[in-house]
Amino acid sequence: MTPQATLAKNSEAPITIVGAGPSGLASAIVLARAGRRVVVRERQRSVGARFHGDFQGLENWSVKRDVFEEIGELGITLKFPLHPVRTGIAYDSIGNEHVVRDEQPLYYLVRRGSGEGTLDEALLGAAREAGAEIRFGDEVERVPRQAIVATGPRRADVIASGYTFRTDMEDANYVCFDDRLAPSGYAYLLIADGFGTLAACMFREFKGHAAYLQAAMEYFQVRLGLNMIQPKPFGGYGMLSRMTRVERRGRLLVGERAGLQDALAGFGLRYALISGALAARSILRGESYKTLLRRRLRAVHSAGIVNRFVFQAAGEKTRAWALDLISKGSARRGLRRIYGGSLFHTALSPVAALRNGAQLTHPGCNHIDCDCPWCRMTGMH
Ligand SMILES: Cc1cc2nc3c(=O)[nH]c(=O)nc-3n(C[C@H](O)[C@H](O)[C@H](O)COP(=O)(O)OP(=O)(O)OC[C@H]3O[C@@H](n4cnc5c(N)ncnc54)[C@H](O)[C@@H]3O)c2cc1C
Repeated sequence: MTPQATLAKNSEAPITIVGAGPSGLASAIVLARAGRRVVVRERQRSVGARFHGDFQGLENWSVKRDVFEEIGELGITLKFPLHPVRTGIAYDSIGNEHVVRDEQPLYYLVRRGSGEGTLDEALLGAAREAGAEIRFGDEVERVPRQAIVATGPRRADVIASGYTFRTDMEDANYVCFDDRLAPSGYAYLLIADGFGTLAACMFREFKGHAAYLQAAMEYFQVRLGLNMIQPKPFGGYGMLSRMTRVERRGRLLVGERAGLQDALAGFGLRYALISGALAARSILRGESYKTLLRRRLRAVHSAGIVNRFVFQAAGEKTRAWALDLISKGSARRGLRRIYGGSLFHTALSPVAALRNGAQLTHPGCNHIDCDCPWCRMTGMH
């Protein structure tokens, strides 16, 4: 019997969810709203503890349907402050500016962390309102069988190092693709309602994170007159992998724990929410989680892996050309082409998968004498 069939059959027993991140709480909301007993076990004392009130983008470009419409249909409705972003400015490493825009939001800017107004608090509120029990300070060492595992990344293939701050700059969103600011990644500056987030998001050379962040800060100071009031440093990490093991001995793996991440740019939030909701749906209906997941996320997920492979192989002129293309018309349509899967993606997929280990997971640091966010948070330095 599949794990979801066992869980579906045993409808009186509480369902354990390990981890109260977006994926775990998405599962909890959908299950509890359907009347199932749910216990979420979270090792930290609050939700969003690995985030710092920084802005993240909940992407709205990889498929045509709006992300809130999609999660709404899956059973998740949230009330919290979010900023739809329809225009952004991208800089290439040659110095060109590309204005990227669409009539529909490209993404929704949301705050992450434990404070009021964050996505994490909104998810927690919705889970509790639906009747889920959340246990904080409850680290799970042996995950029980028949559980949903939502424990986030297990290693760092990408890190971000940055500052949150107050500012009198106008609301705007900027990104710069330049290896001198963020190796194989990008530096970003996001501003809304007098609050800002600046970070270097890098896919290699983690040891140099402080110097890259400094370079990113200077870049935006010169280019835009960056003004940071009371800056507070923050850092974080993510894991990129193929979608391989989503079920393991009776357990359903969701979110980043299942390797569900956007390998090109690290926009894992949508994957987390959708996979969490699909795991819950599979239990409620006794359907195969693997099948539901493949149907919805497989194409976009493997396109992300091919995109990262291509991005890393491309020179600065090719990257500038791609930005130029996206900025010429509807940016969502352009990005959908990149993420939507195509013959090009299918053809390159085996090569990208073969090179997966070498190309996606850079040994960004050797953990010796390193203070990158991963080493700091796992106590390896
Ligand atoms: C700096 C930074 C910027 C980012 N920006 C973006 C962005 O702009 N857009 C985007 O879409 N994505 C972004 N991401 C990625 C996004 O944050 C993640 O993909 C998403 O949070 C994954 O959700 P999750 O539920 O899978 O895991 P997590 O959010 O990591 O949640 C896992 C939870 O499980 C808990 N846990 C772990 N182990 C145990 C255990 N043994 N027992 C109990 N509890 C446990 C953890 O404490 C944690 O609360 C960013 C990530 C970082 C670090």
